[in-house]
Amino acid sequence: MSTHKKQMFARFLDLKWPDINCDMHLHTTRTDGKADIKDVMHYAVERGLSRIAFTEHVRRDTQWFQEFTRQVRAEQKAYPQLEVLVGCEAKALDTEGLLDATDKILAECDIVLGSVHRFPDGRGGYIGFSSLSQEHFAQIEFELAVGLLGAAPIDVLAHPGGMYFRRYTDFPSAMMREILKQSLERGIAVEINTSYIQNLPGFLRLCVEINPYVSIGSDMHRLEQLGECRDRLHAHGVGFS
Ligand SMILES: [Zn+2]
Ligand SMILES: [Zn+2]
Repeated sequence: MSTHKKQMFARFLDLKWPDINCDMHLHTTRTDGKADIKDVMHYAVERGLSRIAFTEHVRRDTQWFQEFTRQVRAEQKAYPQLEVLVGCEAKALDTEGLLDATDKILAECDIVLGSVHRFPDGRGGYIGFSSLSQEHFAQIEFELAVGLLGAAPIDVLAHPGGMYFRRYTDFPSAMMREILKQSLERGIAVEINTSYIQNLPGFLRLCVEINPYVSIGSDMHRLEQLGECRDRLHAHGVGFS
């Protein structure tokens, strides 16, 4: 990771308003989002955000990424007041940090989000979520996240515990604590993603305890979600220390 990228994120206890006034996780109509590039930029300015990152879903066979980055960089000229990054969100393919993206895609990115989306079965397929007990589910998601933190060329671990949070309430705090610790060790930011986290006060307490680098991301798919994470954190008094 370059020094530039390390400076992109503050540690939790150092967060100030400029660090929070951003949305570093969003999708457009290029993948499964509902708004186009221009709409997102326009609305970001309207909402007073100072920085956004386009983090489209990619896979190893994605062919359009270069064209997409070119398009964003062209459109952003109309919004000089807004800092715009282009990056991707790629999922873990195993517990060793293998990422579903090519080096060519990663080289184009200002920011790379690593995610746990599906649970690989080790034979090229995926494990059905419903076949797993709650404990086993947490364990597999934990191992995939730790693999990303240990070896993947990522800047941010997106929505830690996110798949678990979609089905159950609170991700085991011992595992979340370990994820935050390992993220800090490698200087990778952990995403505060309020659309996944079920127990925000509990997660923020862990952030106070471990003080990791953090990224603020709403995982915006619909325009009205842009800046949602910033607003939730603001309501919790984060960034006013
Ligand atoms: Zn995701
Ligand atoms: Zn996403």
